[in-house]
Amino acid sequence: METSQAVSLANLYAEMEEAYSKVATLLDFSCQQCPDNCCDSYFQHHTYIEWAYLWQGLLSLPSERLNEYQGRARKAILGYQEAMDKNERPLIMCPVNDNGLCGLYQHRLLICRLHGVPASISTPDGRNRQFPGCFRCQELTAGKANVTTMDRTRFFKTMVNLEQSFLQGHSLPKIKMTLAEMLLQEPPIS
Ligand code: SF4
Ligand code: SF4
Repeated sequence: METSQAVSLANLYAEMEEAYSKVATLLDFSCQQCPDNCCDSYFQHHTYIEWAYLWQGLLSLPSERLNEYQGRARKAILGYQEAMDKNERPLIMCPVNDNGLCGLYQHRLLICRLHGVPASISTPDGRNRQFPGCFRCQELTAGKANVTTMDRTRFFKTMVNLEQSFLQGHSLPKIKMTLAEMLLQEPPIS
């Protein structure tokens, strides 16, 4: 991945964080003292550029740590399959979560950065989708009118543009991968 692409993605992540933080502050919401840890959610990711950026972070780790994460990733994938065989949604801690803390914080993916506060997005077909936020934020905002939300639209548009620029010249299939799967193979372009 070219340095300029990594910088553009890092800048987008920073903008997301700023917007998230504004909404969280207005709602007086934070993750502190949360009884849950949503890093056990079954998140799936869709961009090659984030996959490559994740690998930048992985390759900066000591090899023992990378091996440890990949070992956890293998177990997580088995657990996902086991849950899905029972028609259950997997609830398995992310392989790079170390005792509640993200071991790849600077390189974590888009959904890790957006999950929590209520949000909305306008799709190209003119529809508007609403996301109520995590269970704890829903408890906080229950019964309140005109709840402040984070508009994700421009962030997703920018991500699409960055992905297109990253993929230039490559024709690759759409992806829908867990972080565990991303950990076990390097992206086809990086
Ligand atoms: S986003 Fe919500 S569920 Fe996740 S840790 Fe924060 S408060 Fe808890
Ligand atoms: S990458 Fe980090 S923030 Fe995202 S789910 Fe894994 S541990 Fe949590």
